Amino acid sequence: MAEKKLRGKKRLPRQKSLFPSPPSGLQFNNFLAGKVFHTLARMWQGRDGIFSGLQAPQQRDVPKELREETRAQELCQYLFFQALSMRGGVNSDDAFHLTAELWNMHPELFCPSKAMTTEEKAFIAAVKEAAAKMHPLLSEKGKRAGAYSYLLGEHARHWRENAAALVKHFDGDIRTAYHGISSFEESFGRVEKKFKGMRRKIFALLTMWLQEFSLIEGFPLPVIVDFHCLRFLAQQRIITVKMKPLGPGKSTRPERQRARALQKLPALHVTEALINTVMSWSEGFLKTCGLSSYDVSHALWFLSRELCASYYGNRSFARQLGLRRSITARVVPDKELKTISGWPKTYKDLCRYCPFENTCKMRIPAGPYFDFGRLVNAGRHIVYPGRSLPLDSRWLPELPVAGKSPRSVRQKPPPDKVTNSRQGFLFAPPS
Ligand code: SF4
Repeated sequence: MAEKKLRGKKRLPRQKSLFPSPPSGLQFNNFLAGKVFHTLARMWQGRDGIFSGLQAPQQRDVPKELREETRAQELCQYLFFQALSMRGGVNSDDAFHLTAELWNMHPELFCPSKAMTTEEKAFIAAVKEAAAKMHPLLSEKGKRAGAYSYLLGEHARHWRENAAALVKHFDGDIRTAYHGISSFEESFGRVEKKFKGMRRKIFALLTMWLQEFSLIEGFPLPVIVDFHCLRFLAQQRIITVKMKPLGPGKSTRPERQRARALQKLPALHVTEALINTVMSWSEGFLKTCGLSSYDVSHALWFLSRELCASYYGNRSFARQLGLRRSITARVVPDKELKTISGWPKTYKDLCRYCPFENTCKMRIPAGPYFDFGRLVNAGRHIVYPGRSLPLDSRWLPELPVAGKSPRSVRQKPPPDKVTNSRQGFLFAPPS
């Protein structure tokens, strides 16, 4: 009846959303989020259990010389270019190592007024030189640029353009963007569309590091929303949304088309709007709970990257598309996970250390995300049928330790969380 009455009348203008077109039906479970985030933050602060001995990459790899009081501006410039190198799919540890090596060999590239006049060819040669020093065998053919290899030409162009933009808009010092502001959105508004490859996630990461090294004032930040964060939130049902079948995709190249085995799986397209909406929700939610994004973001990232990634149900298998490229061909089906013979013979079952396994409801492999930009639900979480109980819940000998895994960031004994004299409010070790 009411609908009939409205017919023929002028439609009211729609209220403008801050982030247009997030997936319809996207919902946040604040009750679960509260429980999980509080636990994560507490464990991260105390480096308890699965976080024992972990050190954030920026604490480990940012050159020590730059942490001197007198070199604050150089440190800002270093972190600015470091944040911009954290592009989709890049291994963060590799990117940190390569950036440190690049700075060692070519510190001029981190000075915006010099970098803006550096030819792309010279930048590429410098990156290859740094990568060759790090990986002498891999670089023999002179083609490899380590963590910067993906779209290296674009990377070189963006580096130069971003250096020029930093000089033009902020006088070469990104701290200018934060003068007198008190919120993340306000600061983002000042840099939006000024830099190539700097959207909310990368800017939040940079802001977090600047706060961590006490280079700018502290204000509340959202969670850093990347694949790892989204996977964990979706597995835990902290975010829920109606998923649609992955489908065949739009590629006209037969080899790029999605495998039949995957097409029916429920999937969620990871759009900019989704990321922004989750970030915006998390900022308000953390503020309400009195939690720091630093603790929650780091804990989420490490947990998904180390533990969720090691879960066999989160594995995917690819077929080769040439010498160096591949595409996801299948995920692990339920029936394979139900019997012990379906699992790898030397399976380590790291999920048994996870404090959130009871609420883990979904399997989300990384392969489809990096190939198709979708979170794919491969099925429900199935516990390893050959599980044995952990002997010691405090120290986790099976987790990677420094030097044994290329992705490892774990060190013994647990390091001091504060290594920089300028550090303070956000990162104080638990008393
Ligand atoms: S149970 Fe395993 S897959 Fe699930 S959240 Fe924990 S570590 Fe990740």
